[in-house]
Amino acid sequence: MRGTAAPDHVSDTLQITEIPVEGYERVVRGVDPQSGLHAIIAVHDTTLGPALGGLRMWNYASEQEALFDVERLAKGMSYKSAVARTGLGGGKAVIIGDAKTIKSEELYLGMGRLVDSLDGLYTTAEDVNTTIEDLEIVRRATKHVSGLKRADGGSGNPSPYTAYGVYLGVRAALGWAFGNDDPKGKKIAIQGVGAVGGPLAERLAEGGAEVYAYDRNQQRLEQLAKEHGVKPVGEAEVMTMECDLFAPCALGGVLNDETIPALNTKVVAGAANNVLLKPEHGERLAERDILYAPDYVINAGGIVNVSVEFHDGGYDEEVALRKIERIPQALKELWTIAKDEDVPPCFAADRLAQRILAEGRAAKA
Ligand code: NAD
Repeated sequence: MRGTAAPDHVSDTLQITEIPVEGYERVVRGVDPQSGLHAIIAVHDTTLGPALGGLRMWNYASEQEALFDVERLAKGMSYKSAVARTGLGGGKAVIIGDAKTIKSEELYLGMGRLVDSLDGLYTTAEDVNTTIEDLEIVRRATKHVSGLKRADGGSGNPSPYTAYGVYLGVRAALGWAFGNDDPKGKKIAIQGVGAVGGPLAERLAEGGAEVYAYDRNQQRLEQLAKEHGVKPVGEAEVMTMECDLFAPCALGGVLNDETIPALNTKVVAGAANNVLLKPEHGERLAERDILYAPDYVINAGGIVNVSVEFHDGGYDEEVALRKIERIPQALKELWTIAKDEDVPPCFAADRLAQRILAEGRAAKA
Protein backbone atom coordinates (compact mmCIF):
# COMPACT_ATOMS: atom_id res chain seq x y z
CA MET A 1 0.00 0.00 0.00
CA ARG A 2 1.32 3.42 -0.85
CA GLY A 3 0.53 6.89 0.49
CA THR A 4 -2.90 8.37 -0.06
CA ALA A 5 -3.57 10.57 -3.03
CA ALA A 6 -5.81 13.52 -2.29
CA PRO A 7 -9.45 12.54 -2.79
CA ASP A 8 -10.54 14.11 -6.08
CA HIS A 9 -13.98 15.38 -6.97
CA VAL A 10 -15.75 13.17 -4.44
CA SER A 11 -19.24 14.32 -3.72
CA ASP A 12 -19.84 15.81 -0.29
CA THR A 13 -23.30 14.31 -0.07
CA LEU A 14 -22.02 11.07 1.48
CA GLN A 15 -23.88 10.34 4.71
CA ILE A 16 -22.15 7.96 7.10
CA THR A 17 -24.09 6.38 9.94
CA GLU A 18 -23.18 3.82 12.57
CA ILE A 19 -25.17 0.59 12.85
CA PRO A 20 -24.69 -0.92 16.32
CA VAL A 21 -24.32 -4.70 15.99
CA GLU A 22 -23.53 -6.92 18.94
CA GLY A 23 -20.29 -8.86 18.55
CA TYR A 24 -18.91 -6.48 15.89
CA GLU A 25 -16.46 -3.67 16.53
CA ARG A 26 -17.92 -1.28 13.96
CA VAL A 27 -20.59 -1.45 11.31
CA VAL A 28 -21.10 1.65 9.16
CA ARG A 29 -23.53 2.52 6.42
CA GLY A 30 -22.61 4.95 3.66
CA VAL A 31 -25.34 6.48 1.52
CA ASP A 32 -24.69 9.02 -1.21
CA PRO A 33 -27.79 10.07 -3.15
CA GLN A 34 -25.67 11.81 -5.76
CA SER A 35 -23.64 8.77 -6.86
CA GLY A 36 -26.21 6.17 -5.83
CA LEU A 37 -23.82 4.60 -3.32
CA HIS A 38 -25.48 2.47 -0.65
CA ALA A 39 -22.78 0.50 1.13
CA ILE A 40 -22.07 -1.19 4.43
CA ILE A 41 -18.70 -1.93 5.99
CA ALA A 42 -18.56 -4.44 8.83
CA VAL A 43 -15.47 -4.63 11.02
CA HIS A 44 -15.82 -7.81 13.01
CA ASP A 45 -12.62 -8.06 15.05
CA THR A 46 -9.30 -6.23 15.05
CA THR A 47 -7.69 -8.00 18.02
CA LEU A 48 -4.97 -9.43 15.81
CA GLY A 49 -4.59 -6.41 13.53
CA PRO A 50 -6.52 -4.09 11.22
CA ALA A 51 -9.45 -5.71 9.45
CA LEU A 52 -8.92 -6.90 5.88
CA GLY A 53 -11.64 -8.14 3.57
CA GLY A 54 -12.94 -7.66 0.06
CA LEU A 55 -15.52 -5.27 -1.36
CA ARG A 56 -18.49 -7.12 -2.82
CA MET A 57 -21.13 -5.63 -5.09
CA TRP A 58 -24.42 -7.51 -5.04
CA ASN A 59 -28.02 -6.77 -5.89
CA TYR A 60 -29.38 -7.52 -2.42
CA ALA A 61 -33.16 -7.43 -2.09
CA SER A 62 -32.92 -5.23 1.01
CA GLU A 63 -30.44 -3.53 3.31
CA GLN A 64 -31.27 -6.17 5.90
CA GLU A 65 -30.11 -8.88 3.53
CA ALA A 66 -26.90 -6.95 2.77
CA LEU A 67 -26.27 -6.46 6.47
CA PHE A 68 -26.70 -10.16 7.17
CA ASP A 69 -24.25 -11.03 4.38
CA VAL A 70 -21.59 -8.46 5.26
CA GLU A 71 -21.65 -9.49 8.94
CA ARG A 72 -21.32 -13.17 8.05
CA LEU A 73 -18.49 -12.48 5.60
CA ALA A 74 -16.62 -10.16 8.01
CA LYS A 75 -16.70 -12.78 10.75
CA GLY A 76 -15.50 -15.37 8.24
CA MET A 77 -12.54 -13.10 7.45
CA SER A 78 -11.64 -12.81 11.16
CA TYR A 79 -11.56 -16.59 11.43
CA LYS A 80 -9.69 -17.06 8.15
CA SER A 81 -7.03 -14.51 9.08
CA ALA A 82 -6.71 -15.83 12.63
CA VAL A 83 -6.07 -19.43 11.55
CA ALA A 84 -3.71 -18.30 8.76
CA ARG A 85 -1.94 -16.11 11.34
CA THR A 86 -1.83 -13.17 8.97
CA GLY A 87 -1.60 -10.68 11.84
CA LEU A 88 -4.81 -9.09 10.59
CA GLY A 89 -8.41 -8.89 11.68
CA GLY A 90 -11.62 -9.48 9.77
CA GLY A 91 -13.90 -7.13 7.92
CA LYS A 92 -15.88 -6.90 4.72
CA ALA A 93 -17.72 -4.32 2.64
CA VAL A 94 -20.72 -4.56 0.37
CA ILE A 95 -22.19 -2.15 -2.13
CA ILE A 96 -25.88 -2.74 -2.73
CA GLY A 97 -26.83 -2.69 -6.40
CA ASP A 98 -26.62 -4.31 -9.80
CA ALA A 99 -23.01 -4.44 -10.99
CA LYS A 100 -24.20 -4.18 -14.60
CA THR A 101 -25.79 -0.79 -14.07
CA ILE A 102 -24.58 1.10 -11.00
CA LYS A 103 -20.79 1.18 -11.38
CA SER A 104 -19.39 4.70 -11.78
CA GLU A 105 -16.31 6.70 -10.87
CA GLU A 106 -18.33 8.81 -8.42
CA LEU A 107 -19.65 5.68 -6.70
CA TYR A 108 -16.18 4.23 -6.13
CA LEU A 109 -14.78 7.56 -4.97
CA GLY A 110 -17.62 7.70 -2.43
CA MET A 111 -16.80 4.14 -1.39
CA GLY A 112 -13.19 5.21 -0.93
CA ARG A 113 -14.28 8.00 1.34
CA LEU A 114 -16.38 5.59 3.37
CA VAL A 115 -13.37 3.26 3.77
CA ASP A 116 -11.21 6.24 4.66
CA SER A 117 -13.65 7.35 7.37
CA LEU A 118 -12.61 4.25 9.36
CA ASP A 119 -9.07 5.57 9.48
CA GLY A 120 -7.29 2.29 8.75
CA LEU A 121 -9.48 0.07 10.93
CA TYR A 122 -10.56 -1.61 7.67
CA THR A 123 -8.61 -2.19 4.44
CA THR A 124 -10.53 -3.18 1.36
CA ALA A 125 -9.69 -5.58 -1.50
CA GLU A 126 -11.18 -7.34 -4.52
CA ASP A 127 -14.26 -9.55 -4.21
CA VAL A 128 -17.30 -10.60 -6.22
CA ASN A 129 -18.12 -7.97 -8.90
CA THR A 130 -15.21 -5.72 -7.89
CA THR A 131 -12.23 -5.48 -10.21
CA ILE A 132 -8.72 -4.17 -9.74
CA GLU A 133 -9.75 -1.23 -11.98
CA ASP A 134 -12.61 -0.42 -9.59
CA LEU A 135 -10.17 -0.53 -6.68
CA GLU A 136 -7.80 1.83 -8.49
CA ILE A 137 -10.59 4.41 -8.29
CA VAL A 138 -11.29 3.65 -4.61
CA ARG A 139 -7.56 4.09 -4.08
CA ARG A 140 -7.79 7.72 -5.15
CA ALA A 141 -9.89 8.45 -2.06
CA THR A 142 -8.16 6.24 0.50
CA LYS A 143 -4.82 4.50 0.98
CA HIS A 144 -6.56 1.60 2.69
CA VAL A 145 -6.78 -0.60 -0.40
CA SER A 146 -4.87 -3.86 -0.86
CA GLY A 147 -4.33 -6.44 -3.58
CA LEU A 148 -3.50 -3.92 -6.29
CA LYS A 149 -1.13 -4.72 -9.16
CA ARG A 150 2.55 -5.19 -8.38
CA ALA A 151 3.31 -2.15 -10.53
CA ASP A 152 1.11 -0.11 -8.18
CA GLY A 153 2.85 -1.34 -5.03
CA GLY A 154 0.39 -4.15 -4.37
CA SER A 155 0.81 -7.91 -4.02
CA GLY A 156 -0.82 -8.65 -7.39
CA ASN A 157 -3.01 -11.56 -8.45
CA PRO A 158 -3.65 -13.82 -5.41
CA SER A 159 -4.62 -16.96 -7.37
CA PRO A 160 -1.15 -18.52 -7.83
CA TYR A 161 -0.60 -18.16 -4.06
CA THR A 162 -3.98 -19.67 -3.28
CA ALA A 163 -3.11 -22.53 -5.63
CA TYR A 164 0.23 -23.09 -3.88
CA GLY A 165 -1.47 -23.19 -0.47
CA VAL A 166 -4.15 -25.59 -1.72
CA TYR A 167 -1.46 -27.87 -3.17
CA LEU A 168 0.34 -27.94 0.19
CA GLY A 169 -3.00 -28.51 1.94
CA VAL A 170 -3.84 -31.39 -0.39
CA ARG A 171 -0.49 -32.99 0.44
CA ALA A 172 -1.13 -32.49 4.16
CA ALA A 173 -4.55 -34.13 3.78
CA LEU A 174 -3.00 -37.10 1.94
CA GLY A 175 -0.47 -37.38 4.75
CA TRP A 176 -3.15 -37.26 7.43
CA ALA A 177 -5.44 -39.76 5.70
CA PHE A 178 -2.87 -42.20 4.27
CA GLY A 179 0.24 -41.67 6.40
CA ASN A 180 2.23 -40.39 3.41
CA ASP A 181 1.85 -36.98 1.78
CA ASP A 182 3.45 -37.97 -1.51
CA PRO A 183 0.91 -37.48 -4.33
CA LYS A 184 2.69 -40.11 -6.44
CA GLY A 185 0.24 -42.79 -7.50
CA LYS A 186 -2.71 -41.12 -5.74
CA LYS A 187 -5.96 -40.78 -7.66
CA ILE A 188 -7.20 -37.20 -7.48
CA ALA A 189 -10.40 -35.76 -8.97
CA ILE A 190 -10.55 -31.99 -9.49
CA GLN A 191 -13.75 -30.07 -10.14
CA GLY A 192 -12.84 -26.83 -11.93
CA VAL A 193 -9.40 -26.17 -13.37
CA GLY A 194 -9.42 -22.37 -13.45
CA ALA A 195 -6.98 -19.96 -11.79
CA VAL A 196 -6.58 -22.21 -8.73
CA GLY A 197 -7.65 -25.70 -9.87
CA GLY A 198 -5.48 -25.48 -13.02
CA PRO A 199 -2.11 -24.95 -11.32
CA LEU A 200 -3.16 -27.47 -8.66
CA ALA A 201 -3.76 -30.10 -11.38
CA GLU A 202 -0.38 -29.30 -12.95
CA ARG A 203 1.55 -29.61 -9.69
CA LEU A 204 -0.16 -32.85 -8.70
CA ALA A 205 0.37 -34.35 -12.16
CA GLU A 206 4.04 -33.31 -12.01
CA GLY A 207 4.24 -35.02 -8.62
CA GLY A 208 3.12 -38.31 -10.18
CA ALA A 209 -0.56 -38.29 -9.13
CA GLU A 210 -3.23 -39.69 -11.45
CA VAL A 211 -5.24 -36.52 -12.00
CA TYR A 212 -8.83 -36.55 -13.27
CA ALA A 213 -10.70 -33.32 -13.90
CA TYR A 214 -13.93 -31.78 -15.09
CA ASP A 215 -14.43 -28.18 -16.14
CA ARG A 216 -17.11 -26.47 -18.20
CA ASN A 217 -14.22 -25.00 -20.18
CA GLN A 218 -13.40 -27.89 -22.53
CA GLN A 219 -10.47 -26.07 -24.04
CA ARG A 220 -8.73 -25.74 -20.69
CA LEU A 221 -9.33 -29.44 -19.99
CA GLU A 222 -7.90 -30.45 -23.35
CA GLN A 223 -4.82 -28.29 -22.75
CA LEU A 224 -4.19 -29.90 -19.35
CA ALA A 225 -4.70 -33.34 -20.89
CA LYS A 226 -2.20 -32.63 -23.65
CA GLU A 227 0.44 -30.87 -21.58
CA HIS A 228 0.15 -32.62 -18.22
CA GLY A 229 -1.63 -35.92 -18.83
CA VAL A 230 -4.72 -34.88 -16.85
CA LYS A 231 -7.62 -37.21 -17.67
CA PRO A 232 -10.91 -35.45 -18.47
CA VAL A 233 -14.05 -36.93 -16.87
CA GLY A 234 -17.74 -36.01 -16.96
CA GLU A 235 -19.54 -33.44 -14.81
CA ALA A 236 -21.23 -36.00 -12.56
CA GLU A 237 -18.33 -38.46 -12.62
CA VAL A 238 -15.85 -36.02 -11.09
CA MET A 239 -17.87 -36.12 -7.86
CA THR A 240 -18.76 -39.80 -7.83
CA MET A 241 -15.66 -41.54 -9.17
CA GLU A 242 -13.59 -43.74 -6.92
CA CYS A 243 -10.56 -41.66 -5.89
CA ASP A 244 -8.26 -40.90 -2.97
CA LEU A 245 -9.02 -37.17 -2.87
CA PHE A 246 -11.69 -34.94 -4.36
CA ALA A 247 -10.68 -31.29 -4.85
CA PRO A 248 -13.62 -28.92 -5.40
CA CYS A 249 -12.14 -25.85 -7.12
CA ALA A 250 -15.14 -24.35 -8.89
CA LEU A 251 -18.31 -23.59 -6.98
CA GLY A 252 -19.68 -23.27 -3.47
CA GLY A 253 -22.43 -25.50 -2.06
CA VAL A 254 -21.35 -28.62 -3.96
CA LEU A 255 -21.29 -30.75 -0.80
CA ASN A 256 -24.92 -31.26 0.12
CA ASP A 257 -27.59 -33.87 0.88
CA GLU A 258 -27.58 -35.13 -2.71
CA THR A 259 -23.84 -35.24 -3.40
CA ILE A 260 -22.31 -36.44 -0.11
CA PRO A 261 -23.86 -39.94 -0.19
CA ALA A 262 -22.53 -40.37 -3.76
CA LEU A 263 -18.92 -39.42 -2.99
CA ASN A 264 -16.43 -42.24 -3.44
CA THR A 265 -13.38 -40.58 -1.94
CA LYS A 266 -11.42 -40.66 1.32
CA VAL A 267 -10.64 -36.94 1.38
CA VAL A 268 -12.21 -33.62 0.31
CA ALA A 269 -9.68 -30.81 -0.01
CA GLY A 270 -10.00 -27.97 -2.50
CA ALA A 271 -10.15 -24.23 -3.05
CA ALA A 272 -13.87 -23.53 -3.47
CA ASN A 273 -15.35 -21.16 -0.91
CA ASN A 274 -18.39 -22.26 1.09
CA VAL A 275 -18.12 -25.72 -0.35
CA LEU A 276 -20.39 -27.13 2.35
CA LEU A 277 -23.93 -26.07 1.55
CA LYS A 278 -24.61 -25.90 5.30
CA PRO A 279 -22.32 -26.53 8.31
CA GLU A 280 -24.23 -29.74 9.03
CA HIS A 281 -22.79 -31.14 5.78
CA GLY A 282 -19.43 -31.18 7.55
CA GLU A 283 -21.02 -33.66 9.95
CA ARG A 284 -22.30 -35.76 7.06
CA LEU A 285 -18.73 -36.01 5.70
CA ALA A 286 -17.38 -37.01 9.10
CA GLU A 287 -20.11 -39.67 9.44
CA ARG A 288 -18.89 -41.15 6.17
CA ASP A 289 -15.31 -41.04 7.49
CA ILE A 290 -14.25 -38.65 4.74
CA LEU A 291 -11.48 -36.30 5.85
CA TYR A 292 -12.33 -32.65 5.12
CA ALA A 293 -9.88 -29.75 4.79
CA PRO A 294 -12.01 -26.71 5.73
CA ASP A 295 -12.23 -24.32 2.79
CA TYR A 296 -11.18 -21.15 4.58
CA VAL A 297 -8.07 -22.79 5.99
CA ILE A 298 -6.80 -24.53 2.86
CA ASN A 299 -7.58 -21.61 0.51
CA ALA A 300 -5.93 -18.91 2.65
CA GLY A 301 -2.83 -18.55 0.43
CA GLY A 302 -4.29 -15.53 -1.34
CA ILE A 303 -5.05 -13.60 1.83
CA VAL A 304 -1.71 -14.55 3.33
CA ASN A 305 -0.07 -13.09 0.23
CA VAL A 306 -2.05 -9.83 0.54
CA SER A 307 -1.32 -9.60 4.26
CA VAL A 308 2.39 -9.26 3.51
CA GLU A 309 1.59 -5.80 2.08
CA PHE A 310 1.06 -4.73 5.68
CA HIS A 311 4.61 -5.67 6.72
CA ASP A 312 7.20 -2.99 7.35
CA GLY A 313 9.02 -2.51 4.07
CA GLY A 314 6.02 -3.65 2.06
CA TYR A 315 5.30 -6.72 0.00
CA ASP A 316 7.94 -9.43 -0.27
CA GLU A 317 7.12 -12.63 -2.16
CA GLU A 318 9.60 -14.77 -0.23
CA VAL A 319 7.94 -13.81 3.05
CA ALA A 320 4.54 -14.62 1.54
CA LEU A 321 5.64 -18.08 0.38
CA ARG A 322 7.12 -18.96 3.78
CA LYS A 323 3.85 -17.93 5.46
CA ILE A 324 1.75 -19.93 2.99
CA GLU A 325 3.85 -22.96 3.83
CA ARG A 326 2.28 -22.88 7.30
CA ILE A 327 -1.12 -23.94 5.92
CA PRO A 328 -0.39 -27.68 6.45
CA GLN A 329 0.44 -26.94 10.09
CA ALA A 330 -2.88 -25.10 10.58
CA LEU A 331 -4.74 -28.03 9.02
CA LYS A 332 -2.97 -30.53 11.27
CA GLU A 333 -3.81 -28.40 14.32
CA LEU A 334 -7.50 -28.39 13.49
CA TRP A 335 -7.63 -32.09 12.55
CA THR A 336 -6.05 -32.78 15.95
CA ILE A 337 -8.80 -30.73 17.63
CA ALA A 338 -11.38 -32.62 15.55
CA LYS A 339 -9.97 -35.96 16.73
CA ASP A 340 -9.43 -35.01 20.38
CA GLU A 341 -12.76 -33.25 20.82
CA ASP A 342 -14.75 -35.47 18.50
CA VAL A 343 -16.10 -32.71 16.27
CA PRO A 344 -16.09 -32.47 12.47
CA PRO A 345 -13.12 -30.52 11.02
CA CYS A 346 -15.33 -27.60 9.91
CA PHE A 347 -16.26 -26.94 13.57
CA ALA A 348 -12.70 -27.65 14.72
CA ALA A 349 -11.48 -24.88 12.37
CA ASP A 350 -13.89 -22.42 14.03
CA ARG A 351 -12.73 -23.55 17.47
CA LEU A 352 -9.11 -23.04 16.45
CA ALA A 353 -9.94 -19.54 15.17
CA GLN A 354 -11.84 -18.66 18.37
CA ARG A 355 -8.92 -19.88 20.50
CA ILE A 356 -6.37 -17.86 18.52
CA LEU A 357 -8.59 -14.77 18.88
CA ALA A 358 -9.04 -15.41 22.62
CA GLU A 359 -5.27 -15.75 23.04
CA GLY A 360 -4.84 -12.48 21.17
CA ARG A 361 -7.35 -10.76 23.46
CA ALA A 362 -5.66 -12.17 26.56
CA ALA A 363 -2.22 -11.05 25.33
CA LYS A 364 -3.58 -7.55 24.70
CA ALA A 365 -5.27 -7.40 28.12
P1 NAD B 1 -11.91 -19.40 -11.79
O1 NAD B 1 -13.13 -18.69 -12.23
O2 NAD B 1 -10.59 -19.02 -12.33
O3 NAD B 1 -12.09 -20.98 -12.03
C1 NAD B 1 -13.26 -21.66 -11.80
C2 NAD B 1 -13.35 -22.76 -12.85
O4 NAD B 1 -14.47 -23.56 -12.58
C3 NAD B 1 -13.50 -22.21 -14.27
O5 NAD B 1 -12.52 -22.81 -15.12
C4 NAD B 1 -14.91 -22.63 -14.66
O6 NAD B 1 -15.03 -22.93 -16.04
C5 NAD B 1 -15.11 -23.85 -13.81
N1 NAD B 1 -16.50 -24.22 -13.55
C6 NAD B 1 -17.59 -23.43 -13.46
N2 NAD B 1 -18.67 -24.19 -13.18
C7 NAD B 1 -18.24 -25.46 -13.08
C8 NAD B 1 -18.86 -26.69 -12.79
N3 NAD B 1 -20.18 -26.77 -12.56
N4 NAD B 1 -18.10 -27.81 -12.75
C9 NAD B 1 -16.77 -27.74 -13.00
N5 NAD B 1 -16.14 -26.61 -13.29
C10 NAD B 1 -16.87 -25.48 -13.32
O7 NAD B 1 -11.92 -19.30 -10.18
P2 NAD B 1 -10.71 -19.57 -9.19
O8 NAD B 1 -10.06 -18.28 -8.88
O9 NAD B 1 -9.92 -20.72 -9.70
O10 NAD B 1 -11.49 -19.99 -7.88
C11 NAD B 1 -12.04 -21.29 -7.74
C12 NAD B 1 -12.72 -21.39 -6.39
O11 NAD B 1 -11.77 -21.10 -5.36
C13 NAD B 1 -13.87 -20.40 -6.19
O12 NAD B 1 -14.84 -21.01 -5.37
C14 NAD B 1 -13.23 -19.27 -5.41
O13 NAD B 1 -14.16 -18.58 -4.62
C15 NAD B 1 -12.25 -20.03 -4.55
N6 NAD B 1 -11.13 -19.20 -4.10
C16 NAD B 1 -10.30 -18.62 -5.00
C17 NAD B 1 -9.24 -17.81 -4.54
C18 NAD B 1 -8.29 -17.16 -5.50
O14 NAD B 1 -7.28 -16.61 -5.05
N7 NAD B 1 -8.54 -17.21 -6.80
C19 NAD B 1 -9.04 -17.64 -3.16
C20 NAD B 1 -9.89 -18.28 -2.26
C21 NAD B 1 -10.93 -19.06 -2.74
